[in-house]
Amino acid sequence: MFTLDGTMERFEVFPLHRHKHLIKQCCAVINSEWPRSEMARLHSLESSCDTLPISLILVKKEEDNFQTVLGHSKVTPIPSIPDGGFIETVVIVNLYRGQGLGKYLMYKTEEYIKTLGLKFAYLSTIDKQEFYSKLGYIQCHPVSIYGGYPFEVKSGLKQGDALSPALFNLALEKIIGDTNDDRRKEISNEQVMLAYADDIVLMGETKEEIINSTYKLINAKNNKLNLFEDGVLKPYTNHVWTTICEQLGNKCIPKTLYISVFQDRHDYQSKLKKSLNIFSTNNDSFDNSSGKSSDNNSEDETNSEKDDEENKKKKFNLSIPYEKYLKFEPITIPYKRKDRFRVYNVLKQNTWTDIINDALLEKYNLPCNFIYKRSVVSSDKTRSKYFIKFYATCKDKGCKLFGSADKQPQPGQPLLLNILANDTRSQELQHVTKRPLKGTKRETVGKQLSTHLACNWRRNNTSSMKFGQISPPNLYNNKILWKTKQ
Ligand SMILES: [Zn+2]
Repeated sequence: MFTLDGTMERFEVFPLHRHKHLIKQCCAVINSEWPRSEMARLHSLESSCDTLPISLILVKKEEDNFQTVLGHSKVTPIPSIPDGGFIETVVIVNLYRGQGLGKYLMYKTEEYIKTLGLKFAYLSTIDKQEFYSKLGYIQCHPVSIYGGYPFEVKSGLKQGDALSPALFNLALEKIIGDTNDDRRKEISNEQVMLAYADDIVLMGETKEEIINSTYKLINAKNNKLNLFEDGVLKPYTNHVWTTICEQLGNKCIPKTLYISVFQDRHDYQSKLKKSLNIFSTNNDSFDNSSGKSSDNNSEDETNSEKDDEENKKKKFNLSIPYEKYLKFEPITIPYKRKDRFRVYNVLKQNTWTDIINDALLEKYNLPCNFIYKRSVVSSDKTRSKYFIKFYATCKDKGCKLFGSADKQPQPGQPLLLNILANDTRSQELQHVTKRPLKGTKRETVGKQLSTHLACNWRRNNTSSMKFGQISPPNLYNNKILWKTKQ
């Protein structure tokens, strides 16, 4: 029971399905915020039950005992996170906002989640971060709430890496199991928290530990001897993948594990092959792998550029139109550590590399197949002279690239980039590999291919090429395109 200061108004939160006569009112409350047909709305509200999904309603008891529904929240299960619940459709009717009722409803919702034995509450918000962070929520990687498994996350996964939720689950277990920092307190205090993959990714050792323990398992003698057949990975349907996943506590599914090994993420496959003395003769497989030189934030910063090396480099200026910049603009990610909130900025992974690389190739026709290593974003001028800086290495000849932007573009203005790289335009013949096709661009090209044949795609994308020019590294070959279409 909750009484607003001094007034006689009484508010209660209870499950909708135990007060079915309020379902139409509840429907109207939700529809006032997110209009939808009453039929569809009622249908979804009727699924409320004692386990999950459940709809909770905030009800005001009037003096004549009439009940007015003022708010609603819903908790749904997250198939990939058995001890988590997803809070959605949280709404308080307009007239009653700003009085703490939202907080009260959230508090009651979390309380309900705890009674179900769940440890984590997740939610998704576009414009209410402040409200939820005051309630103790911290931001996390998008979590798949639809499919059964993280692998099925496709659109809406900000961080192109679909393995991330799986790593996150593994990390979570570790954290609950054996950390002794504040996180544990948070859990033992039974505070509901929104846990978060980035938080873990930031803790370098922990991420390393996860990668290492995964590797230890796939590299265990009993497992690794069964992983390959004639030097080729066995398909994810093979029981060996299931076995390893079981050993990993079923925190990821065989398909996810298979893909991360197949794509050679964290050098899993290369290390395995090395330890088994399998030598790859098939160079094509490199093209299809997105992992090996994981075209995204990898932790190894190569500051090996020497001054004399720098001098041989040419400066290329690049201007990225504002609309394109918006597709990968840095997002600020808050994370909590030792009771303090900190933030870090990151460019949208698996998106910025293709946009910048395509612009570079289009303007300067460099034959280099750049694999981007790392980007650093700094919004604090006093700490870094660059707004963005990044490094890349050419897969063919190891040519180094350093790119930077001095400042954040004004709205509507292009992002201006300075690229320092070797002018390799006379060395086309030494550049033969094609860029891996992944992330956002892979999705885009995949969509284009669903209506076009691969050869037509190539033709459309060569129309700007001059006769006799060697095909650029972002002109994917038919085989890659065909795989993308699948
Ligand atoms: Zn090169």
